[in-house]
Amino acid sequence: MTESDRLNPDRKPDLNFDWDPKDRISQELERILNLANKMTVTTSTNRQILFQLTKSPIEALLKINQSHFGNSDLIRGFIAVLAKSLLTVRSLGEGQILDDRSDGNGSCPDCDTVIQSISPDQSTAPNHSTPVSRNGVEPPVNEFLPGKDVARIIYCPSCSVPYTAALQILSSQGFGIDR
Ligand SMILES: [Zn+2]
Repeated sequence: MTESDRLNPDRKPDLNFDWDPKDRISQELERILNLANKMTVTTSTNRQILFQLTKSPIEALLKINQSHFGNSDLIRGFIAVLAKSLLTVRSLGEGQILDDRSDGNGSCPDCDTVIQSISPDQSTAPNHSTPVSRNGVEPPVNEFLPGKDVARIIYCPSCSVPYTAALQILSSQGFGIDR
């Protein structure tokens, strides 16, 4: 493109229809996973709120299917399975669960399985440095306490099976992303 083309006010914007949607897809799948994990350890009232929040990433995935995958029946089917698995987690305990175990302690309020509580530090996140005082000045507390400032991944390993499987199959066999 010449300089005069570039400065031409009538020039059409560079529409790039080939942008790679994989990062966006991964982000949306991650959002759904986080919301679903939270659902497995909280009250039915909170599950309903979290379930509503899954609608926007589900909608985004449907749109990406339209824009980049020719509205694939296969992908739409996998998304429907995922949506159904989220509905299942929302409705566990016949919608009467009153226990909130979001702190990661104890067992699942629905199936009694011991709750998993994983620090992201142990898996993917870089290690936090140990607090060091410089010239006798203590660093701000919440900036350096590992596990305090980083949200732990807390979920019921049994109740999570259906949506974890649905996310995996949608990602790999649907969108062709290895996670
Ligand atoms: Zn459970």
